[in-house]
Parts: sequence; C-alpha cells; structure tokens
Amino acid sequence: MGNAATRCSNCDYLVTADTIDNNKYCPSCGSEVKLPQLPEKEVELMGVAKLIEDILKELGKDVRLARDGANMWSVKAGSAKVKISYNPENYFVAGDAYLCQMPLDAQKIKPLYQFLLQENNKPSGLVLSCVKIILY
Ligand SMILES: [Zn+2]
Repeated sequence: MGNAATRCSNCDYLVTADTIDNNKYCPSCGSEVKLPQLPEKEVELMGVAKLIEDILKELGKDVRLARDGANMWSVKAGSAKVKISYNPENYFVAGDAYLCQMPLDAQKIKPLYQFLLQENNKPSGLVLSCVKIILY
C-alpha cells in the first residue's frame, strides 16, 4: 500500500497509515489530519510544479511529504512553516510563512504595525501582513 504519511499541522507529529487514529485523527494530539492518497505511480510533474519540486529537493526537502495538494507544498525552514503555492492561471508562485502571533498586549501592536509598514517599504520582494487579528 505504500507509505502514506503526513505531518500533523497542529503538533507536527508524523502521522502514517499505520498510526492514524480512526483513519482521521492525529494519534499525538487528536487534531483531524488527512493522509495523502498515494497514486499508483508518481504523477509526472511538468513545468513550474516540477521546477518547484526540483528546487525543494535541492534544498534537501522530501517533496512527497511537502506536497499539500495540486500545486501546493509546505516545508519547514527553521521554526517557520512555509506554504508554497503555484497558481497556473496567473503563473504566480507564492510562499507564505507565519512568523509570529500578534502580541496579547495591545500597546505592543502599534509598534509592530509600524515595523511591518517600514519593512514593506523596502524593495525585498517580501510582503509582511497580518492574516487575522484576535483581540481579547
Ligand atoms: Zn497532532
């Protein structure tokens, strides 16, 4: 049956077909996980998707574990999880990494915003943004 395996997005535990709980849950933390469906044989990749996987391989990543779906990958770089996606309609390749959570101390949010805006003003090809802000 091959070795279907995936990393739990919550606790990073390597879940395999042998260890998955109830065919649905991470045995370590109980989060819902989905094992990739292994195709009969490796799908022949072409074009940009192949180029992205070639680059990931060169970086020492296991591309079969990195695959998150068609034209989607996620890899770890240090403590950051980087999500890579390719949109074949507009040829856009995007890499997203969650770097930190918003500070709980509201007074610290304004300086963080100022830092983000300053960094975004630099021509680096990177854009910093907030995905969701939870204020308590
Ligand atoms: Zn887990």
